Amino acid sequence: MNYPVDIMSEVLFTEEQIAKRTKELAQRINEDYKDSPLTVVCTLKGAVFFFTELMKNLKLDCRLEFIKASSYIGNTTMTLGNVTISRSMNFEIQGRDILIVEDIVDTGHTCAKLFDYFKNQKCHSVQICTLLDKKSRRQVEINPKYIGFEIGNQFVIGYGLDYNEAYRNIPYIGILNEKYL
Ligand code: 5GP
Repeated sequence: MNYPVDIMSEVLFTEEQIAKRTKELAQRINEDYKDSPLTVVCTLKGAVFFFTELMKNLKLDCRLEFIKASSYIGNTTMTLGNVTISRSMNFEIQGRDILIVEDIVDTGHTCAKLFDYFKNQKCHSVQICTLLDKKSRRQVEINPKYIGFEIGNQFVIGYGLDYNEAYRNIPYIGILNEKYL
């Protein structure tokens, strides 16, 4: 069964645009962490596509890890303040620089929770790299160091981003057509 051809009301970023922007971010990260022991942490599941593209462009001797944080439940486009980290950390971070890779920062609750989670361990530093930033929706102060694109208050899908666990596999990003809400 294929997904509907009109599942997006508008395409926001093509695969090519995402790849180009990711390369630019990777160049900055390569420069910023050239002397540091970096661990790049992918937040499951949404950031997987972005994370893979980013990692392919890093020239650093770095480690990669995965963590799962959930902030919204089931069939909804609303995020909630109560974030749970459901894949607990079992990798060594003492003295290391941590770069959290996110698909999207919306209210900021998920990133804030992850940020605190790592800060409370004995890592050397924590920064956030997000593909998308819905800055106008922020409820807590979170300022990602690396941002792919800023977007408005729209619910987007594709390139790892889901609606009710579907459409993650679409290789570009667009606005979910309201008729499928
Ligand atoms: P926050 O805690 O910043 O409000 O929410 C972050 C999480 O909410 C993201 O990691 C993502 O899973 C989900 N989210 C927020 N906005 C969108 C969106 O426009 N599309 C999708 N698919 N997920 C979103």
